[in-house]
Amino acid sequence: MPDSSPFLATACPHDCPSTCALEVERIAPDRIGKVRGAADNSYTAGVICAKVSRYAERVHSPDRLTRPLLRTGPKGSGQWREIGWEEALDRITDAFLDAERHFGPEAVWPYYYAGTMGLVQRGSIQRMRHLKGYAGQYSTVCDTPANMGWLAGYGAIRGTDPREMAESDLIVNWGGNPVATQVNVMTHVSRARKARGAKLVTIDPYRTGTADVSDLHIMPRPGTDGALACAVMHALFRDGFADRAYLARYAAGVERLEEHLRDRTPEWAEAITGVPAAEITAFARLYGGTKASYLRMGYGLTRSRNGAAQMHAVSCLPVVTGAWQHRGGGGLYCSSGIYRIDRKPIDANDRARPGVRQLDQSRIGAVLTGSARDLGDGPPIKAMLVQNTNPAAICPDSARVRAGLLREDLFVAVHEQFMTDTAALADLVIPATTFLEHDDLYRGGGQSHILVGRKVIEPQGEARENHIVNNDLMRRLGADDHPACHMSAWELVDTVLKASGLPDAETLAAGRWHDAQPDFETSHFLTGFGFPDGRFRFAPDWAALGAMGGRDGLDELPALPDHMPPGGTTDDEHPFRLVTAPARQFLNTSFTETGTARKREGRPTALMHPDDCAALGVAEDTPVRLGNRQASVVVHARPFGGLQRGVVVVEGIWPNGAFVEGLGINALTSPEPIPPAGGAAFHDTAVWVRAA
Ligand code: SF4
Repeated sequence: MPDSSPFLATACPHDCPSTCALEVERIAPDRIGKVRGAADNSYTAGVICAKVSRYAERVHSPDRLTRPLLRTGPKGSGQWREIGWEEALDRITDAFLDAERHFGPEAVWPYYYAGTMGLVQRGSIQRMRHLKGYAGQYSTVCDTPANMGWLAGYGAIRGTDPREMAESDLIVNWGGNPVATQVNVMTHVSRARKARGAKLVTIDPYRTGTADVSDLHIMPRPGTDGALACAVMHALFRDGFADRAYLARYAAGVERLEEHLRDRTPEWAEAITGVPAAEITAFARLYGGTKASYLRMGYGLTRSRNGAAQMHAVSCLPVVTGAWQHRGGGGLYCSSGIYRIDRKPIDANDRARPGVRQLDQSRIGAVLTGSARDLGDGPPIKAMLVQNTNPAAICPDSARVRAGLLREDLFVAVHEQFMTDTAALADLVIPATTFLEHDDLYRGGGQSHILVGRKVIEPQGEARENHIVNNDLMRRLGADDHPACHMSAWELVDTVLKASGLPDAETLAAGRWHDAQPDFETSHFLTGFGFPDGRFRFAPDWAALGAMGGRDGLDELPALPDHMPPGGTTDDEHPFRLVTAPARQFLNTSFTETGTARKREGRPTALMHPDDCAALGVAEDTPVRLGNRQASVVVHARPFGGLQRGVVVVEGIWPNGAFVEGLGINALTSPEPIPPAGGAAFHDTAVWVRAA
């Protein structure tokens, strides 16, 4: 960009694998105009999603929180009075010290997640946790099952450079909907289609926006991807598409796998998945017959109780065909393992106290309502600071989360940009900056760039950044004995980059990004997989994975790729399987605050097969009640032919208040952990459906 440009370079902080390189127009010291993608970034390639291109609507929304607010009525009543920052910080400090004095430091639970992916602003709450010895957060709500399933076979999280898709002849989009959730994937798919006539296949339980523009859509029942993958592998071995020379050199347990798959036929899988055997065979032939086949795996298939097992089963495919050997071949689930960023200067991990109990983020409802299974022999949680997340809407069993947050003896402070469902239940709400109002450091999850984001505009109202708020609290709490507690965010970015052997902050800002993609051999695992013997594992050592290994359903995980039954078992009483997929205009609950996004999404809606609608006597826009033993919620029905009978899809995540009865979709989802290491089974809920 020329220096005279009114557009300033930064990076998208949202919880999306793209981490787009952005250019933001500053039209006044406190006001932005247009937001666009950097055309010269080889991944972003000038394309960003509509959500972020409309960011002016979000950052300048009249609904932004701009002053600290103290609750004046009952919890959740919406009665507040404005207070100053000094009083707000003093109140949080007093509540934390009081909890600590009476119950010990593990009665305080700093709670956070990925509302910003900026390493400095996101990680500073961890520094407070470690310096104070507060209760740990075992972070499971997103990628834990996916990571476990991938690591089970590969032993390291990396994969084919997504820009190599341009050299692919077949792209298999399995369990993701990039048109809605990572639009940049489609840029690289389009290049392959235009240049080489590449085919795009989508495998998803419903006809998503991406399925709509694919050459082929395979539509298994939710939670049956493992069975589908086994049948595809059966056909690959049977029909001569397994690359035996590659397998002999790079994989362990091949003979056992082939023997095991012998009766996992397409017909066997048809009964489980609902996908016709002939379609499975045809896909296997297409996949096996294409050397440059790129498997892009999403999180969708991992959000069920068998999620880790399904990820492992599907991820075996490019190993069986040897696609990893070819340019444009192999695949990607996530690139997080390619970075060597030393986060200690931010989160003070080296100061974590041994033996501090770890509380499962996804089980916040159980934790806050006194579950002995979760709290162990430690104290109840008496005080919290919540940053970058909205557990009252996004966590499973959300009615129990709400009940916990409403406890009279629990102090909750929420640092937020908007009055989220969680903020609305707090004792104290303090206003947070957006990425445009502070400095930070970012790295891609579905691509390979490290980027810095400088502050573009002044904070709106009295909003303050996480790093500074947390440092102020640590000073008041007498726990600022750490260099980061005395640095600006930019100084900390520089410190982290230097500690990681990367270009310093000013150099990175001048160059705008650093590409961390490993070379072809490493990216394609041709230097070996991430185990001592360098071989891919068809038979995972599940027990070796995950902090919760051995406790939660480890014995349910298959020894070899297989169909592991999902958790939300449908029965006569609960004949439907609910999938809570992401909406195009929202990102979890972010962007639900903006009018354009809400208008385009409409309202919480149940997509159901027309025959199911007819059987239930419901038509378009009829209110229907979805329920199970945990709760019931009311949404509006939409007959939709793009899913199998017995499947219900509710896209979101809508705020609770958008639902007819004020209870959101996650009231139905289960907090039972996904083996081997935990996680939330958001797409694995058995429900009944009735006209409301
Ligand atoms: S595609 Fe993802 S990373 Fe890019 S601007 Fe949109 S939300 Fe941000």
